[in-house]
Amino acid sequence: MQAEFWRDFPILQEQIQGEPLVYLDNAATSQKPQMVLDALNQYYRTSNANVHRGVHSLAERATIAYEIARDKVADFIGANRKEIIFTKGATAGLNIVATWAERLLKPGDEVLISIMEHHANLIPWQQVCQRTGAKLVYVYLKDGQLDLADLKTKLNANTKFVSIAHVSNVLGCVNPVKEIADLAHQVGAYLVLDAAQSVGHIALNVADLACDFMVFSGHKMYAPTGIGVLYGRKSLLEQLPPVEFGGEMIASVSEQDASWAELPYKFEAGTPPIAEAIGLGAAIDYLNQIGLSKVTAHEANLIAYLLPKLQQIDGLTLYGPKDRQNRLGVFSFNLEGLHPHDVATALDYQGIAVRAGHHCAQPLMTYLGTNATVRASLACYNTKADCDRLISGIQATKEFFNGLI
Ligand code: PLP
Repeated sequence: MQAEFWRDFPILQEQIQGEPLVYLDNAATSQKPQMVLDALNQYYRTSNANVHRGVHSLAERATIAYEIARDKVADFIGANRKEIIFTKGATAGLNIVATWAERLLKPGDEVLISIMEHHANLIPWQQVCQRTGAKLVYVYLKDGQLDLADLKTKLNANTKFVSIAHVSNVLGCVNPVKEIADLAHQVGAYLVLDAAQSVGHIALNVADLACDFMVFSGHKMYAPTGIGVLYGRKSLLEQLPPVEFGGEMIASVSEQDASWAELPYKFEAGTPPIAEAIGLGAAIDYLNQIGLSKVTAHEANLIAYLLPKLQQIDGLTLYGPKDRQNRLGVFSFNLEGLHPHDVATALDYQGIAVRAGHHCAQPLMTYLGTNATVRASLACYNTKADCDRLISGIQATKEFFNGLI
């Protein structure tokens, strides 16, 4: 039976170029269900005020709603509420962790990342390594996914941080995080997990994953833009200094000095993204209402359906693992002789939204020997009919350009 989650997402009723929209750019951002739209509307209509500041009733309503959202996030990833720092998104979270790392790293130390990292989990480490004299070391691929043997040879007593994507935004492979975390901990390194592409698709439990830090963005899991989460193990966060200053992150301030509020507030300077956090809470409610395991199973069915169909297309090169084990719904490909932007434009003419470009993973593109790929990525509201539209859209694109050549 086909899941009908798509009915919950008003934008999916849109027509694009006269065709019903097939939205397959979910790795860039997901669409928002009515429940999230309603939560935002409701907040602004009934509760809008600044948090943690006022004693008036609206301020209290806003503060309660904002803090309830934090509880929902904590439950969602199996964390303590003090370990949940609201940020702008995954990028902001990774930059904060890298700022902390800068205090620790010295010449001779190593930071281990993989060649598949999004620039958000690469450039902050490049910068920190350049400033501290630490070395940025890469793990490469085998069979379209992370080469664990390569990781094992590169981990050593100098490794201080291992920062890795849970799921690649290009290859779609799911990395064995728990195993990597255990290996990292054996050499005394911290494990930083970029969960931007796994959140909302598969369960995330920080204890099971054994990560020290984890980041994700709300907008990729049906929540608004402008909100993300940085999880940090409480014992670590307690020792770490604030990165931004001002607003309610203080315990007290004198003319020449200040002391910090307790966790997590010492890391949330200034007015936070209140409505967005409440929207994130609503997105979690939405996923809990469906049941995340049902979403995972639905997407797994679509992956099993789409993967062989893509692999059968003549002249299509698909990147990432060849089988559906260890794969989520991110399919990067190229069509022989065609530029990815032309393919994406041709698909858009048929109402199909996919991404084309380097996907903020230029070192990976270089490693794969290409400048860019087309990327189709799934979310809970996609259907087998969407997959069929993609396949026939690719065939039509090939025929169209072959006719021109
Ligand atoms: N990490 C990965 C794997 C991503 O795919 C992305 C966004 O595409 C990010 C980090 C950055 O997320 P954001 O732009 O929401 O901060």
